[in-house]
Amino acid sequence: MSEISNRLKELKETLPGSCTLVAVSKTKPGSAIVEAYDSGHLHFGENKVQELTQKAEELPKDIKWHMIGHLQRNKVKYIASFVHLIHGVDSLKLLKEINKQGKKADRIIDCLLQMHIAEEDTKFGLDKEELFEILEGEELKEMTNVRIVGLMGMATNTNDDDQVRKEFKNLKLLYKDIKNSDHANVNIDTLSMGMSGDYKLALEEGSNMIRIGSAIFGARNY
Ligand SMILES: *Cc1c(COP(=O)(O)O)cnc(C)c1O
Repeated sequence: MSEISNRLKELKETLPGSCTLVAVSKTKPGSAIVEAYDSGHLHFGENKVQELTQKAEELPKDIKWHMIGHLQRNKVKYIASFVHLIHGVDSLKLLKEINKQGKKADRIIDCLLQMHIAEEDTKFGLDKEELFEILEGEELKEMTNVRIVGLMGMATNTNDDDQVRKEFKNLKLLYKDIKNSDHANVNIDTLSMGMSGDYKLALEEGSNMIRIGSAIFGARNY
């Protein structure tokens, strides 16, 4: 068995069955993805549109591709026909474009709204007010080719576990809040939080989708 599939297997054994593991393959070659795929893994995450479309074209068609990075509106058209889930939706304008391209592709595209939970202001995301503006706005009701299925967030990159836990806790509260509310084109069941360095904390705080790169594929060289 390869190193990648070993690490994947070990990791999966520690996860609750309700948790989806997205193997973040950005910067890694297709051969690394095939190793994981051959061991039965289907969910992969990429953060660049060009890399994502290229890999999707070359690799097996039953792979479920997650777009986890910041997505520019003018690039939505390249992934609309096949993307499984878009994690980084952080504006109404972007959501509208996804809806438009979803319509063209004749499909409903699942999206997560990305929340700003970290202390750093470099990380993208909505605040609470913006979230409810989108969910309660009239425009979402007209968007028949997107479906909001949950929230995504990235915690502060720090060794302070209490800080990270607090951020995940807040996101979980917000998640519960909107899960119990009723909005058109919204069907909440996914909370995407946790990466290689903080997924254990994220799981303890109620994550059901983690995005793991380096702990599976090894460190990235940029
Ligand atoms: C790169 C990336 C990850 C994975 O990071 P690791 O630390 O390698 O697990 C998760 N989420 C997002 C949004 C990323 O860009």
